[in-house]
Amino acid sequence: MSLRRSGARVELFGRDLEDAAVYYRLRKGRERGVRVCTEAHCGRPIPPLANGRQRYCDAHGSGAARVRRHRHGATVLNRFVRVVE
Ligand SMILES: [Zn+2]
Repeated sequence: MSLRRSGARVELFGRDLEDAAVYYRLRKGRERGVRVCTEAHCGRPIPPLANGRQRYCDAHGSGAARVRRHRHGATVLNRFVRVVE
């Protein structure tokens, strides 16, 4: 009995919290205005419902582009180390 009740409560509050998050992001999005992707030469708009810390568009925010950025940074560092030597 108690398990069923707590499950229903989680379901109810979960939905409420998601709604609150959407409204919060909508409001913050209007305050910030439209943001665009930080990736060079992209300029695609970041979804208005995206988290405030998101700096890249859907195409560059995850996966291959993210890995490429990290690898690029490592390469630059290696070159710098070699120049110093
Ligand atoms: Zn992008």
